[in-house]
Amino acid sequence: MIETPVLIAGGGPVGLTLALALSRQGVRSILADPGRITPVDLPAGLAPFTLADIHADPRVSLRPGWCLFGFERFADGVTAHLMQVQGDGQQQVRAGYLVGCDGAGSLVRNFLDIDLEDEIAVAFGRGRVILAGDAAHPISTAGQDGLALGVADALCLAGHLAQATDGAHDAKPLQSYEIERRPVVRRIRTGG
Ligand SMILES: Cc1cc2nc3c(=O)[nH]c(=O)nc-3n(C[C@H](O)[C@H](O)[C@H](O)COP(=O)(O)OP(=O)(O)OC[C@H]3O[C@@H](n4cnc5c(N)ncnc54)[C@H](O)[C@@H]3O)c2cc1C
Repeated sequence: MIETPVLIAGGGPVGLTLALALSRQGVRSILADPGRITPVDLPAGLAPFTLADIHADPRVSLRPGWCLFGFERFADGVTAHLMQVQGDGQQQVRAGYLVGCDGAGSLVRNFLDIDLEDEIAVAFGRGRVILAGDAAHPISTAGQDGLALGVADALCLAGHLAQATDGAHDAKPLQSYEIERRPVVRRIRTGG
């Protein structure tokens, strides 16, 4: 079984931002996506790096062509099951944290049985499994704010995960992240 501090499911702009932001704080991650992982350019100023850097980053292990299809949660980590989209490869990953950046139809959110209310997940995760980007707040029909919100989620979460994985500070990254991000997402999505 492979071990990693953080497993990221989804290589859209939010998953890529999270992986790079974690790396800049010294945290390794594995990022799996059923597609080819081709970074799109973020609008200038949205993140302090270019997503194209991902391919050269030694702390990010990319798994293009692999998708998450299940996981088990434990007090001290998550055992995740990945499978190859083409071919019959399967791999188990033991991660300190699993982050679902797997978009609006998030499998991670569905497996956690988390409902949506006003287009926002009623919880941004459970224990060591955390949602970010469209997985936490699926796009509105206008689709005008999802990218900026999701990138900000990733930058915020990376800080809390970096503290948690060094064992010294924030032992509850999900709570800290949700306290910080939920009011912002709610204000932008519902005006409330
Ligand atoms: C037509 C349209 C126009 C838009 N215009 C704008 C705009 O102008 N401004 C703006 O801010 N936002 C816009 N958005 C919204 C923006 O595109 C999204 O908010 C943003 O892409 C969300 O990023 P994400 O990484 O959370 O999810 P996604 O970009 O959806 O990425 C999710 C990734 O997860 C992967 N995945 C899925 N299932 C699994 C699995 N089981 N295991 C592993 N990986 C998995 C997918 O392959 C995908 O690569 C628009 C959206 C649409 C559809």
